[in-house]
Amino acid sequence: MKSSVKLIAFLSLLIMIQSCSDFKTNVDLIIYNASVYTVDSLNRTVECIAVKKGKIVAVGSDAEVRSRFEAKHYLDAHKSFIFPGFIDAHSHFTGFALNLRYADLAEAGSFREIIDIIKNYHKLNPESWIVGRGWDQNKWPGKQFPDNNKLNELFPDIPVVLTRVDGHAVLANNAAIRKAGLTEPYTSGEAILHDGKATGLFLEHCADKLKEAIPLPTAAEMTKLLVKATELCHAVGLTGVNDAGVDKKAILLIDSLQKAGKIKLRLDAMMNPTDENMNFFMPEGGYKTDFLRVGSVKLYADGALGSRGACLLQPYSDDPSNYGIIVTPENEIRTVCQNAKKYGFQVNTHAIGDSAIRMVLRIYCEFLKGKNDLRWRIEHAQVVNENDFDIFGKYSIIPSVQATHATSDMSWAEARLGNTRLKNAYAYHRLMDENGWIPNGTDFPVENISPLITYYAAVARKNLEGKPAMGFLPENALSRLDALKSVTIWAARASFQETKIGSIEKGKMADFVILDADILSIAEKNIPKVKVKYTIVNGEVVYNAANDIKK
Ligand SMILES: [Zn+2]
Repeated sequence: MKSSVKLIAFLSLLIMIQSCSDFKTNVDLIIYNASVYTVDSLNRTVECIAVKKGKIVAVGSDAEVRSRFEAKHYLDAHKSFIFPGFIDAHSHFTGFALNLRYADLAEAGSFREIIDIIKNYHKLNPESWIVGRGWDQNKWPGKQFPDNNKLNELFPDIPVVLTRVDGHAVLANNAAIRKAGLTEPYTSGEAILHDGKATGLFLEHCADKLKEAIPLPTAAEMTKLLVKATELCHAVGLTGVNDAGVDKKAILLIDSLQKAGKIKLRLDAMMNPTDENMNFFMPEGGYKTDFLRVGSVKLYADGALGSRGACLLQPYSDDPSNYGIIVTPENEIRTVCQNAKKYGFQVNTHAIGDSAIRMVLRIYCEFLKGKNDLRWRIEHAQVVNENDFDIFGKYSIIPSVQATHATSDMSWAEARLGNTRLKNAYAYHRLMDENGWIPNGTDFPVENISPLITYYAAVARKNLEGKPAMGFLPENALSRLDALKSVTIWAARASFQETKIGSIEKGKMADFVILDADILSIAEKNIPKVKVKYTIVNGEVVYNAANDIKK
């Protein structure tokens, strides 16, 4: 009896020793010593995150998590602030990548500087056309339009196409003019002449022809551009983007690059409504991997407010004969909606003016019938008629907005719209109230890519100079927490990804951004100065401002 008690005691001790060494579960990464805003349903804050195989396995206090888990890598956050990886609900990621092949001429203070920049560009890209964008002669001494004499002298055989900042004027050398097939006589007003001879400066359709003549990148070049674009996203804390209008070819290339581990960015590809795209993706009900989703169609209802292309119910206040334009006929939108409903796709339609928005709301309502969870979206939703706000709520239509559009447009929006209509423009808070949530994005490269600037514009309604002092239509600012949700969990929800990404919770993908300041509490004016220290995708550090990961 006595000996059996001893034996049991001995065995229990053995089991205890055994279980102590087994007690900690192995994980890949533990991030500790942090203020983690989980953005879960209770908005909990924690100190520590454990990650295994790209997913979050635990969150909690440092003591709690570290007592249960043993990691291959530890990351001391040094009391920094961790948020779910930022998601841009409306960008043009592929277009942004394509733009990266252009030499940036925006900062050039003279035509001489332009020449230096493009000489350097040619050195780096000896095989390709010389393409640049962003020049503005108003920044140069004399403010004269340039001509192409110097370009012809330096580059007699290599085509040069340099687009002005507004995109409507192009300076080209003779080699490019030949390639584009432009011949005299030019359409009146589309070529700037000097003593009756073309100077190489072209406008509108002639400019478009030159831009269209630029060869598209090869798959290898496109790969480089997409990888570079991904790096730029990581550097500003983006771990996911919605790409508003992509084609099958680009989607398949991105898919292959994601699968090869070359692009660590989650992408929601809104496909263009071409027959090729729709026939390929729709009958299958879309396409889904951990990194890619194809489950929506992108449509355009009208143009933009700045160029008076947005379609309004009443004419432009600064152009009384102009209502703007509808760019996709109603019946075409209806046909796409029909197919989308049939195959379970979202419809995401660009609509900016109150007339275009009303048209799209009306068409959506025919299919949605009442409250639903199909999350059909209106992209931009900039000028909403007073009588149309409640349709967003009644039919669960999601306004997908870009907070920096408000602060970029504020200097001229009133001229276009007049005071009364302006009150219902960029009405993000009011739109959010309709469904209780709102996704936010940038429309980059139209606006700055940074989600922190989007966040700042959403909460402050001010530009980067801090103007206007009281904010632009400040009643439509979002609270800091709502603005944070708009670039994380609500942006995820806008493309049905909220169970995978958008918050820091057990079971979700390990996508985080680590910032050097608490954007929920610092002084408003300091928000644009906040730095991204790390961006982490799938548990992997993809951007590291300072290298202090411990082995
Ligand atoms: Zn867009």
